[in-house]
Amino acid sequence: MIAQPQPADCPLCSAAAERVRAAPRGYRYTCPSCGSFHISSVALRCRQDIPASAREDIRRLRAYGYTARIDIDRQHAVRVTPA
Ligand SMILES: [Zn+2]
Repeated sequence: MIAQPQPADCPLCSAAAERVRAAPRGYRYTCPSCGSFHISSVALRCRQDIPASAREDIRRLRAYGYTARIDIDRQHAVRVTPA
């Protein structure tokens, strides 16, 4: 079964975006402003802790051909890494 995109506000910029469930335990968002990125469920719950620089990180990774993944590490720091 293919996951259907559902409307959801972008957790980074609050624009009207779409998301689909993505393994492991997260979502893939497609935002008209931020582009496509993965985010873990944990990071989504802590979205107010995601720094504005995350959008810049996403753009930089895309420039190198990667899709960004936003997650929270064991020190509770937001990390943006290649998916
Ligand atoms: Zn966005």
